[in-house]
Amino acid sequence: MLRLLTIICSLLFSFTAHANTEKLKVVASFSILGDIVQQIGGDAIDLHVLAKANSDAHVFEPTPYDAKTLAAAEIVVINGLGFEGWIERLVLASGYKGQIVTASKGVNTIAPEEEHHGHEEHDDHGSVDPHAWHNVANVKTYVANIRDALAKHDPTNTVHYNARARAYLLQLESLDTWIKSEIAKVPQAKRKIITTHDSFQYYASAYGISFIAPLGVTTDSEASAADIAKLIDQLRNRQIQAVFFENTSDGRIVRQLQTDAKAHIGGTLYSDALSKNDGPAASYLALMRHNTAQLVAGMLYNPMLHKH
Ligand SMILES: [Zn+2]
Repeated sequence: MLRLLTIICSLLFSFTAHANTEKLKVVASFSILGDIVQQIGGDAIDLHVLAKANSDAHVFEPTPYDAKTLAAAEIVVINGLGFEGWIERLVLASGYKGQIVTASKGVNTIAPEEEHHGHEEHDDHGSVDPHAWHNVANVKTYVANIRDALAKHDPTNTVHYNARARAYLLQLESLDTWIKSEIAKVPQAKRKIITTHDSFQYYASAYGISFIAPLGVTTDSEASAADIAKLIDQLRNRQIQAVFFENTSDGRIVRQLQTDAKAHIGGTLYSDALSKNDGPAASYLALMRHNTAQLVAGMLYNPMLHKH
């Protein structure tokens, strides 16, 4: 009898222990969003990220494993604003029937750069620039949306999600303050940058920098010779200090600018994907700090002090 009781007790114990460790299965569409979701979910969620570090989420190609993981997910978090053009097809193919949470819901959106209207890649994105995470204020909205969605699907962990979101919001607050104080070190007239695809319009409007990109909003097109010539003119006429590479796009254009216009290369910016874990932008917070440090150094670059 005692033996039977022991067995029943241990069975009950293992059952409750299992129930307590059952994690909410979450899928996030790309690496930057994945990090934000993980910050809020902590160890209460089991997260799968679709477009991984250093990969271009605009042209993501899902594997059969991605589809399988998606089918088993309890909640899917996407950026929205047309960023993940492939998500509907993937959701349909996987048979996922759950909720799709749009993290950017309620952010202040901006239209893509005027001068890129007419580029055909525009059709992918519609009339809104999807790269809203480059404004920290927008990411606070992402955090609120993700927190509420996690709590809704996993109410027993509401306190956990709320506490983690609150702590993360404080970190975002100090990040935002830090970025503003760093940019303030650069004289107004020097706040001009060239990048390889214009994903920095939110950063530009939030923090007061002009970004000029040789390509449209997405990355799957090549700049023509005329585009390059136009850029070189812009570099010279507007006295732009530095050009930047991005981790997910082709660096040929930037290298050509360096050769043809003797532009200073300001390093690599992370726009649409995190770096690998051992890189300088392995989290959203690190990405924003890295980009800001690179941009400030590039804009303050003084060719008189660096004779090649
Ligand atoms: Zn992009």
